[in-house]
Amino acid sequence: MGEHPPFDFETASQPVAARVGAGLAKIGIALKSRAWRDAGPERLTPTQGQAIVILKNAQRGLRLDEIAVALGVTAPTASDAVKALVQKKLVTRRNAKDDRRAVSVTLTARGEELAGRVAGWPDFLLRALDTLDEAEQTAFLRSLVKIIRGLQDAGDIPVQRMCIGCRFFRPHLHDDPVQPHHCAFVDAPFGDRHLRLDCNEYESAAPDEARSNWRSWSGNAPASGLEGAI
Ligand code: SF4
Repeated sequence: MGEHPPFDFETASQPVAARVGAGLAKIGIALKSRAWRDAGPERLTPTQGQAIVILKNAQRGLRLDEIAVALGVTAPTASDAVKALVQKKLVTRRNAKDDRRAVSVTLTARGEELAGRVAGWPDFLLRALDTLDEAEQTAFLRSLVKIIRGLQDAGDIPVQRMCIGCRFFRPHLHDDPVQPHHCAFVDAPFGDRHLRLDCNEYESAAPDEARSNWRSWSGNAPASGLEGAI
């Protein structure tokens, strides 16, 4: 038998980013198939399912822009989801009490019942994530924050109410390696494992402050072409 050159994984492998993207796509497919399976005859998409759960948790009518922010999608995507839900008789639209020009979306009785059923969709993901230890979960959360920020900088999703863009965020203010950051809103230290992806107290930082916080938190300069965006 002739000698083979040693197998080189470096040249034989796709870039890591491509494989991570493929992995995320697989999770997206799992979410979608689960959504279709559990949504019964209404056949909700994940976005529609999340929208009715958000409405149920809010326990009041929500305006379209509030739904878009809570979903983390653009206003047209939220509008399409609500239109489909109206057609399925799961929500109704009427003028908002506080602003006659705005539209308030509320659940119908059928929507309420279905929202209770679909609220359990993410449970199967949580069970899978429980297979990661605490350090792995924190590292994953940190990576997600970076990916979400990249998506919002590219305009693919609206700005999310995350610590890294918040005016109350003080990265690496403390020497404690476990809780190095500080939230000036509650005046308390916290660590990467406590980073919020959707905080009610979030307020946007000024662009310069947000850029400087990003550098301090991530250890990275903003990606080329994204210097002005946060
Ligand atoms: S107010 Fe919320 S988003 Fe802002 S730093 Fe504190 S925990 Fe994070």
